[in-house]
Parts: sequence; structure tokens; C-alpha cells
Amino acid sequence: MRLEDQSEVSTLSPSFSAQDGRALLVDKFGREITDLRLSITDRCNYKCVYCRTGKVGAQYPELPLADYVRMARLFVRLGIRKIRLTGGEPLLRHDVVELVGELARLRSRDGQSVEVALTTNGHLLAELAQPLKDAGLRRVTVSMDAVEAERFARITRVPRSYEAVLAGVRAAREAGLKPLKVNCVLLRGFNEDQIVPFAEFARQADVVVRFIEFMPLEEERVWSPQIVVTMDEVLERLRSRYPLHEIRRDPSETARRYRFDDGLGEIGIIAPVSHPFCGHCSRVRITSDGKVRTCLFSVFEHDLADLMRKGATDGEVMEWILQVVLTKEERHHIGEPGFVPASRTMVHIGG
Ligand code: SAM
Repeated sequence: MRLEDQSEVSTLSPSFSAQDGRALLVDKFGREITDLRLSITDRCNYKCVYCRTGKVGAQYPELPLADYVRMARLFVRLGIRKIRLTGGEPLLRHDVVELVGELARLRSRDGQSVEVALTTNGHLLAELAQPLKDAGLRRVTVSMDAVEAERFARITRVPRSYEAVLAGVRAAREAGLKPLKVNCVLLRGFNEDQIVPFAEFARQADVVVRFIEFMPLEEERVWSPQIVVTMDEVLERLRSRYPLHEIRRDPSETARRYRFDDGLGEIGIIAPVSHPFCGHCSRVRITSDGKVRTCLFSVFEHDLADLMRKGATDGEVMEWILQVVLTKEERHHIGEPGFVPASRTMVHIGG
């Protein structure tokens, strides 16, 4: 069946009515899908030891910018309100600023501009922060797993990476990309001693630091339940040093949020392992080679690039997307007996 404009959707999806603006992208568990993570390359200029082997480079092809824009446009017509560019390292794409500009021009179903965000290792951000902001980027999240230069270089396996990322963080702040978030993945015996220094960093650098529990998505299978530094442990360490209180968050927000009692700085904790939030998941992902993934831990993918190559109309693509969203997994099974690893690792999905 063809689906050439949104009014036709009402005949297909009981959860949609063009008039009342209700959600279109709703999975079979009733979750509204409003966030799209779009990977635009699986190349990365860092080889973080917990993420990549250091041997494997790009594995999947990249698409022309126009294909990503078309995919994003059709998802937005169906109800996506936020698009986060990721990778690999998205700033390695020479056309990333142009892409942000194209995405920022999209309008959601209620006429609002789409929130365009970016996750980056920050290495190239010093030069790109202002052009990205000018193109319409609203938010940036920078990944940092230590706040010590030497340790940082050991983790990323790139000399002087810490200095480059700090310059990127500064440039993002100066460009007005606020609130600026810094994500830190914690692994036991590796960087959990960075928790308190990161809290200090959050307070001094005026960034929101978010600690993330390590998930089994790495190239070299090193994950074990014991290696995960849980949310409760992070809180215990922080509270031993600073009084903290939890603050309100959006139900679809992945991070629990905490403020220091003196009002200076904010901490977030993303705890997919110890406190899964699958019941509130509002995400869908597209890989750099144009496959739709309905969960980080999916064991199968849906080939949108192929559908487009075969000449599907916009209506056909949207109808296909509606069906794909209905296959979204109820939850992940990390740590359960019989856990089946995702069909790709983090760097090749887009974190
Ligand atoms: N290159 C960009 C960056 O560094 O933010 C985007 C891609 S990177 C794969 C996205 C995020 O995933 C980074 O913050 C990284 O630390 C995180 N990550 C990688 N492997 C992970 C894992 N196994 N569990 C949790 N987070 C992971």
C-alpha cells in the first residue's frame, strides 16, 4: 500500500490521527519513538581500549549526505523530534556541518524545529564547534573517560588527545552549545578512581558530567557483570565527598540527575545495566550504512538504504518504518543467562 502523505497513515495505523497530532511512531508496547540516532561513519580517530581492538577500522560503508537527509526527513514526518548524530566519530565526515544545516531545517509534525544534537570524542571540536552551532546544532555531548592527560592518552591510544578534547569543550562552551554534557564510561579497576575528579571537573568547567555503566558492546569481549561500576557505587563515592540531591528528569531521559547541594555543577548517571530504562525507551537508530536498529542490542537490522536504492517512494518508506518500529524489542537481556550479543559492536552501531 502507498502512503504518500500523512493523512493516509490514519488508515494504516490505529495510533495515528492527522488532526489531533497524536504519536505516529508507537511500538507494540506503547512506547512513543521520538529520538533518532543517526550514525554517519563507523570510522573513529580514537581506539579507546574498552571499545575497539585497535586493529579493526571502518567496517561498513557510508552513505551520501542526501540519503541521511532523506531518511531523517521521513522519520521526522512520522514523529521524530530529536536527531543525534553519532558514529564512529561523526566529526570525521567532511560534510558534517552541511548535514547539521539540512537537519536543522526539518520541522516536526507540530511545526517545531527538530533538535539536532551530536555525540563526539571532541578531538576535532575546537575548530568545528562554532560552524556547527551556526549551522543549527543545539547540543553536544563529549565523551571523556579520564580527567588526567596521561591516562586519557592511554585510554584513547592517541597522544595529546586530552589537550585536544579540552580545547573542544572550551570551544563548544564559547559557541553557546549549552548545557554541555560530558559522558564517562566507567570500568572497574580501570577508571573508577576518576569519579570524584570528574565531579570536580563538572563543578569547575560548568559541564554536566554523566557516568555510564559499561555495556557488553565492545569489540574485544571483555564485559562481565563484575567490571560494571554501578549507579549505586557511583553515588556512594560521590556522596562520600559532596552532598548531592536528585533532581527532576523527563521520564524518557536516560540519565538520573543530581545536583550538588551548593548548587554548583550537575551529575548524571546512566545505568542501563543495574537500572534498565527500556520501558521508557524512545529511540531508534540508523547505522552509517543505512540499517535501522530498534535496540542497541538488536540481533537483526532493517535495510533502509537498500529499500531506498530500489526506488521506494517516500510513502513506501514511511509505511516500512511504521512496520519496523513495531518490531522494537521489549528490553535488553544484559547479564541474563543465554544473553545473545548484539549483531554489531558500539562503534559500528553509533553510541
Ligand atoms: N565517537 C563518538 C564519541 O566518542 O562520543 C561517538 C561514538 S562512541 C561509540 C559513543 C559513546 O559510546 C562514547 O561515549 C563511548 O564511551 C560509549 N561507549 C563505547 N562503548 C561502550 C560500552 N561498551 N558501554 C557503554 N558505553 C560505551
